[in-house]
Amino acid sequence: MVRKRRDSADGYLRSSTYQSAAMYLLQYNEFVYKDYNELLYGKTYSTSHIPTGTCIPFSKKIFVTVNGKLLPCERIGHQFALGEITDSEIQLDLQSIAEKYNYYYTKFEQQCKACYNRKACIQCIYNLPNIEEKTICHGYMSKKQFEMYEKSQLKFFARNPESYVRIMEEILKQ
Ligand code: SF4
Repeated sequence: MVRKRRDSADGYLRSSTYQSAAMYLLQYNEFVYKDYNELLYGKTYSTSHIPTGTCIPFSKKIFVTVNGKLLPCERIGHQFALGEITDSEIQLDLQSIAEKYNYYYTKFEQQCKACYNRKACIQCIYNLPNIEEKTICHGYMSKKQFEMYEKSQLKFFARNPESYVRIMEEILKQ
């Protein structure tokens, strides 16, 4: 019986509605700070940047494949390798890495500039399908789409006020 109740609670936590609400709080709640710099010096979001959720190379981690390819993370395709480790050296061409990122950013620039969810964008462009051919981000939100998204998240918290505390205390603290 206890087990069954726990399973159903776990299912609730994994539900897309709950996950979406948690993501909304993480991105838009003024009381959530990603690090001490944000807490002490304020949030430094700038609309002048293309705010895709693509990590700046080498800013977080480096992933090395068994074949020696260097990737910015383990979740993107090997065709986006930043460089390579050979038997004799580490091959990294910083100029070409910068050019490659600029090339992809430029492809999405217009869409990102018009996207109402750009402040909280978590979309890595390398995870979008077929970025050489298409430049469509399915996470894009128009003003109307963003208003509907926001409204539905707020409605969720109005109906489930306990979820706010739970997400803030149990999930975002992790
Ligand atoms: S269009 Fe996509 S990548 Fe650009 S800001 Fe919006 S969600 Fe992020």
